[in-house]
Amino acid sequence: MVERTGHCSCKSIKYQLKAEPMFTHVCHCSICKRHTGSAFVTHVFIETEHLEILRGEVEAVPCATTSGRAHTLHRCPDCHSPLYSHYGGNARIAVLKGGTLDDPGSVVPGAHIWVEGKVPWITIPDDVPAFDQDYDAAEVWPESSFARRKRAGWG
Ligand SMILES: [Zn+2]
Ligand SMILES: [Zn+2]
Repeated sequence: MVERTGHCSCKSIKYQLKAEPMFTHVCHCSICKRHTGSAFVTHVFIETEHLEILRGEVEAVPCATTSGRAHTLHRCPDCHSPLYSHYGGNARIAVLKGGTLDDPGSVVPGAHIWVEGKVPWITIPDDVPAFDQDYDAAEVWPESSFARRKRAGWG
């Protein structure tokens, strides 16, 4: 397994992934733009039990989502970098902000979502599925990844 570690911008929080992520997608929605201060977010799905916080303690902040689901964002209490989210009240799945990884290029998006909000100067590769809004993970994720997601209570 590839060793994946990451940290917030001030390095108070350090973490390590103890398993391969289930799936990675890029979200182009306006809320993700604002959380990252960038043009998109890379969202890396993993069971929360496999996201080990090696140093520090994150703070949980309730937030809105574009799709209207409950969203709790976990930040560094010192520098306030966003690190990961729980969606729909499911704390068993962590949706990690891939830009906080020490090697952000090591996770490759399997889909792009909320492409209707994409900035015009990003071009999505032809061979990666892209959706105007949200997508049906059951149709897009590899079967084994979706099975992990279901086992963690998010079908
Ligand atoms: Zn920090
Ligand atoms: Zn988004």
